[in-house]
Amino acid sequence: MSDSLQDIARDLARFVKQQQDEGVEWYLDEGEPASPAPAPVPTAAVETVSAPPETVAEPAAPAPAVEAQAVPAPTPAAPSPTSPADPAKKKREEDFQMTSDRFVTDTLERIRANGPATTASDAPLTAEQKTAALADLAAEVTACTACKLHSTRTNTVPGAGNPDANVVFIGEAPGKNEDEQGVPFVGRSGKLLTDILKAIGFERDDVFICNILKCRPPGNRDPEADEVRACEPFLVRQLEILQPKVICCLGRHAAMTLLQTKASLKSMRESVHFYQGVPVMATFHPAALLRNPNWKRDTWDDVRKLKALHDALLQD
Ligand code: URA
Repeated sequence: MSDSLQDIARDLARFVKQQQDEGVEWYLDEGEPASPAPAPVPTAAVETVSAPPETVAEPAAPAPAVEAQAVPAPTPAAPSPTSPADPAKKKREEDFQMTSDRFVTDTLERIRANGPATTASDAPLTAEQKTAALADLAAEVTACTACKLHSTRTNTVPGAGNPDANVVFIGEAPGKNEDEQGVPFVGRSGKLLTDILKAIGFERDDVFICNILKCRPPGNRDPEADEVRACEPFLVRQLEILQPKVICCLGRHAAMTLLQTKASLKSMRESVHFYQGVPVMATFHPAALLRNPNWKRDTWDDVRKLKALHDALLQD
């Protein structure tokens, strides 16, 4: 091996060690098989685990007008698949579990206080009704010429997954691969999203995945305001049909559009938000994680909290 190759190999080994020491979760890396999360516990068999409710991350919601009901204690978020041998990692993991438990307890209380979600325009839909309504909506998307993106697209990308999903993931806009296949998140960032889902115990078919824009912006540029405006009614209707229990925005564009805010992703990640009464969490976009793997650890915490909230909502 030449000197320069040896240098590169040494730098690489040092970089890898440094990342591991910093706790970057390599199991979320592309190409690495995600460690299987613990099998989901059947709802009826879930036992409540007492957890210490602590302070609220967001301003406390107004007291519910209805008589207060007991909020079930959250099930713990999935432990890190790499068992933290060193004390600093163990402490971090314990702190995370406390934060996650508190997050779930506080969110359930706020949901109680807010009352039922209003994404459902009518009575709850059956899985068959949702499937049919989403197919009708997808046909409308396919025919859409409401903005300039229709003239450059190969395919529209309405969304994919389980029409009866409890969780909806919302990205920004289709990229090249998605435009070619008509399916969201099938490129490199899609593969990472699939790994992230697996790491918290979901298959892609368990959830519904869609984007703010249903057509690819040329060259993957950012969505423009007129495009977002034109496409937004499709997302609104999708959420009315899907009636999810929880929504996860992937990246700032998705969160800004859904929540109608210009806040930073950092601040949006800090607390739960609500869209028509449905809890919304924001985390990094998988494409951002490919550019900056140091954000994976925070993403791992975000998605574990999301899964813990999802489990608690099913149990509720
Ligand atoms: N990025 C997105 O935001 N959505 C996709 O579908 C693919 C990449």
